[in-house]
Amino acid sequence: MLKIVFPGFNSKVSLHNHSDWSDGQDTLEAMCRGAKAAGLRLFGMSDHWVAAPKPNMREETWSMKLERLPQYVKTLKKLQDELNDNSFQLLIGVEADYFHENYTQVFDKLNNAGLDYIIGSVHYSDIFPIDHDAADWQGLSQAKIDEIWTIYWEKMIAAAELGTFEIIGHLDLPKKFAYMPSFDYMPMAIKVLDAAQKTGKAIELNTAGWDKPCQEQYPSNALLEAARQRHIPTVISADAHAVSQLTRHFDEAETICRALP
Ligand SMILES: [Zn+2]
Ligand SMILES: [Zn+2]
Repeated sequence: MLKIVFPGFNSKVSLHNHSDWSDGQDTLEAMCRGAKAAGLRLFGMSDHWVAAPKPNMREETWSMKLERLPQYVKTLKKLQDELNDNSFQLLIGVEADYFHENYTQVFDKLNNAGLDYIIGSVHYSDIFPIDHDAADWQGLSQAKIDEIWTIYWEKMIAAAELGTFEIIGHLDLPKKFAYMPSFDYMPMAIKVLDAAQKTGKAIELNTAGWDKPCQEQYPSNALLEAARQRHIPTVISADAHAVSQLTRHFDEAETICRALP
């Protein structure tokens, strides 16, 4: 595993991106060449690698097949050979889901796969798919919404305590479709950041949220501020699923970062 020196707030970096190996639209090659052409200097691909512990979680619709990981790494290594130079460095990552049931096996496997880094994310609250479709949230009681949020933070706290991945993905993701909890989640979110500080993780300023019903980046300004107070590195990333999204909202992201107290 590479020891990434996180470059600080910098809109020439993006480490969270998807290709058609998972749920993106474009090929790895198109994404990496596009990133270089867009002037990014440090760029990582992080296709989904999701080992769902329970049946009927529909992860096969958006994750690469687990056994394809070696081929994915090999394809990216070839692109590193072609594209890396003084102005551009390509890194090989995945976005992996944290599950209480199998995190040891998941991260053991990924830490031996030749990756440069791992993004640890939570896309499920138990088996509820948090960011799949607004329709999943429609008609839920406020009590159910609160439960989804609570389980999300409990999983994130446990994930952040692990020493086995480098970057926390889109912290505060359940706000995506603008179904907010009735309680103040900041105390739980702060526990995630305290754990991240202890285990040396970075977080993202994930710009995809601006294109979603929540209409703001992940995570909120308050959490970005709390991360900065804890000296947690924050990496601006597009969570791009197409070449056209490679640097979406990066100017706003940099402005937000620079304005943080
Ligand atoms: Zn994600
Ligand atoms: Zn993603």
